[in-house]
This record gives sequence, C-alpha cells and structure tokens, in this order.
Amino acid sequence: MLKLWNSLTRTREAFGPINPGEVRMYSCGPTVYSMPHIGNFRSYVTWDILRRVLVANGFKVVHCMNITDVGHLVGDGDEGQDKLQMSADKEGISAWDIAKRYEKIFVDYAEVLNIKLPDSPLLCRATDHIEEQIKLIQLLEEKGFTYKTSDGIYFDTAKFPDYGKLSGQPLDEKLEGARVDVNKEKRQATDFALWKFSYPNGRSFDSAHDDAMHRRHMEWESPWGIGFPGWHVECSAMSHKYLGQPFDIHTGGVDHIPVHHENEIAQSVAAYNVPLANFWVHNDFMTVEGQKMSKSVGNVYTLDDCKAKGIEPLAIRYFFLGAHYRSKLNFTWEAAQAAQNALNNLREFSRELAIPTDQNPHESFNDEFMSELNDDLNTPAALAVVWNLVKSDVESSVKASTLLAWDKILGLDLDKYIAKPVEIPEHVKQIAQRRWEARSRQDWPAADQLRNELDSLGWNMEDGAAEFKLKPKV
Ligand code: AMP
Ligand code: ZN
Repeated sequence: MLKLWNSLTRTREAFGPINPGEVRMYSCGPTVYSMPHIGNFRSYVTWDILRRVLVANGFKVVHCMNITDVGHLVGDGDEGQDKLQMSADKEGISAWDIAKRYEKIFVDYAEVLNIKLPDSPLLCRATDHIEEQIKLIQLLEEKGFTYKTSDGIYFDTAKFPDYGKLSGQPLDEKLEGARVDVNKEKRQATDFALWKFSYPNGRSFDSAHDDAMHRRHMEWESPWGIGFPGWHVECSAMSHKYLGQPFDIHTGGVDHIPVHHENEIAQSVAAYNVPLANFWVHNDFMTVEGQKMSKSVGNVYTLDDCKAKGIEPLAIRYFFLGAHYRSKLNFTWEAAQAAQNALNNLREFSRELAIPTDQNPHESFNDEFMSELNDDLNTPAALAVVWNLVKSDVESSVKASTLLAWDKILGLDLDKYIAKPVEIPEHVKQIAQRRWEARSRQDWPAADQLRNELDSLGWNMEDGAAEFKLKPKV
C-alpha cells in the first residue's frame, strides 16, 4: 500500500485514486528561458520515480506536465519582466526562439536522465492554450472573482475564503510576506494577475499604435485588451483540460507552495467549485553549501558541467535517489563523484551476474524494496536494499532478475550491464600488454603513449601489483 506525504493535510496518507486503477497526475514543469540546472531536475526525477512506483503498484498513470513559455515574471508578486522576454532581450533573438531553444534542451536533458516525460498533448505549452486560459478568466469574471487595474485583470483573494490553506499560513502573515509588492492598485497584496496588459489599461490591436517602448514578442488579443496570461492560469486551465477536476496528484517544488500552488487552487476551485487535486506532493531543494541552488544566487551546475568533470547524467540520477525527496540534498563534487563510483560498482557487479532464468524478482528482497518505495518514496532505503541484495548469498541468476525488475523503477539502465561481461577486443589486449611491458622496464614515455592510445579507444587500464585490469570507460 503506497503512502504519500500530502502537503495539503500535512500527514502521510494511504494513496488511493479517484477512478479505480487509474492515477491522474499533474506536474508543474519548467519555465523555458535559460539552461536548466541539476537542482531543477531533482524535481523531475522525483516525479519520474513517483510515476514508476505508481505503475509498479498496478496503476495506469495519466501524467500531464506544462511547459511555461510565457507569463512567468521575475517577481512572484506579478511585477518585473517576463522571464522569456528578458532572455530574448539578452540573447538578441525572439521570445519564441528562446522558448524553442530551452524546451529542446530540457527535453534532451530529461531523456539522458531517463525521465519519461508525458507524450504529446499531455506535455503542454502555455502558448498553445491561450484560448483555454482566456475562457477560465472569463468564467472567474462571471463569478465575480476578478477586478481590473491599469496593468491587468486580477484575482481577488479576499473573495476566496480558503486562500492560504495549502501553505497553512494565516492571511495576515501572507499579506505581510507580499507587502514588498510594488503594485499599489491591487486590493490585497496576495491578489495575483490573471491577464497582463501589453499596453496600460488594455488596448486592442485596432487601437494599438507603434510604441517605441513596446517590446513584447508574445501577446494575444483578449476581451480585456492585448496582453498575455498570468503564470498561474496555465496550470489551472491545462490540468482541467487534460485531467479533469479534481484529479489525484499534483506535484512541484516546495517553492511553489506559498504562491503558485495557492493561486492555482484559488482559481480552479473558484471556477469549478470542486477541489483541484487530492494529493499535493512537493520536493525539497538541492542546495550548495546550504543555499538553494538557483540562478539568482549563481551557484548552479548543469549536466554539461557534470560531464566535464566525468560525472554522467545517470550518476546524477543515482545521486538524487540517495536522498529522500522531502529532505534537502547538498551538492558537492565529492558527493557526485561518490555517486558515480557507486553506479560504476553496481554496473561492474551486474556484468558478472549469471543470465536470469525467469523474470521474477527474489520475493523477500522485493517485498522489502517495494515497501521502502511505498513508504513515501524512500529511495535511499531502497538503494540500501539493492546493496544488501548485492552482498547477499542469493543465487546469481536471481540477483540478475531482481535487479532487472527493480531497474524499471530506478531507471539506471542496469539492463545494459546485467549478465553482460566485458568483451575486450584482441587489439586492445595487445596494446595493454605492450604498455604493461613498457612499464616493467620503466619506459615511462612509451607507457604514457600507450595509455593515451587505450584512452582514445575507450579503455582504462588499472595497474595492480602483479597484473593489470582493463575497464571500459563510462
Ligand atoms: P522553474 O523553471 O524556475 O519554474 O523551476 C522548475 C522546477 O525546478 C520547479 O518545480 C522548482 O521547484 C524546481 N527547482 C528549482 N530550483 C531547485 C533546487 N535548487 N532544488 C530542487 N528543485 C528546484
Ligand atoms: Zn503550476
């Protein structure tokens, strides 16, 4: 029985879906305006594990994730520039090209991390759903939840009595937190933009004239004037379209709790009068020296930075699994290297296993493994079970079938290694032998040159006291 920590009730609850056998899950996706860093991917690997654990529990999973390509402003209080427009100005290309560029990088990175993203149309862009967002805002307008200011249409949080329920923050504390907000036209500091105007007071395309100050690349006509949707609207509109309401699980980073998710709930519940989602699951941050890894702090690392240091994407995935998703995970190069070493060891061990005779995992080890994962996705404990199996005296072919089954959840590509001993080509063996001889007669230049040759062929040579070992480079 899967148990998940539900941020909404602040308890660990037994999970059960609304429709038997099917789980509808929504994950807040990336804002595609710059290089995603590994901190961002901690979220997406967590939801990938959750999806795989749900499948292992026999559920069909309908997973939806948005791509934010418009409307996410620099300030959480709806002030400042649109992040995509800001990057467009900086990089000298259009906001549309910025979105395309960074969405592709996100999708490529997700692939090398073995994150299975939703298939189209469930991986959905905000800019492809402007009509749905306008309709949602109209519905909120009809129900009296909106008001107009000179820069947009706003949601009146005073009209939604449950505002603040997710974060559990009393409204006065929330108002105090949002007090720094610069927009004096808002009725309450917690109110948020549903539609932002490109021109003050909302002109239409007919009446808009060229304005030297006007630089927006993404904008649409609407019943209120030319503009673009507020960031939170897309998630409410697209989850409603693809999953219905209420759905089962809503995921995101803890940073989304106080503003973005609170606002999603307010809009969706106000519009449709039923809860948005039953379970709210949030991951904590990856940190560097105790501080959140984030672009604004400037302490971010990308998968490319890791690659340059010899750390593979799947080692980063292994590193994520080594911590519980609701605790902070501090990044250091030593810790990343330790994850790479552990993964290499697991691969080496897997290679030597006997071919599995059937697909069944070892029963009691499997019970242990699944019960750790079903305990609010306790991946570090599940990895400990992996190593206990490795060290155990379980028959080699059963170890192989068990690891194969578990890798469907871990996603570490162990199938490429299990029961596949390394085959060293004859010419590689010969170069290694020549190097070993050069080394024995202390001919270091020749030994170094032959090591380089092995390196370029993709092999590492490890020198022991009496013999050498050849290992394929990862
Ligand atoms: P963004 O593209 O800024 O909207 O962020 C995308 C996702 O990455 C969000 O769900 C954030 O919660 C998450 N995120 C951002 N920084 C970190 C971090 N340092 N550790 C874990 N998750 C993060
Ligand atoms: Zn969202």
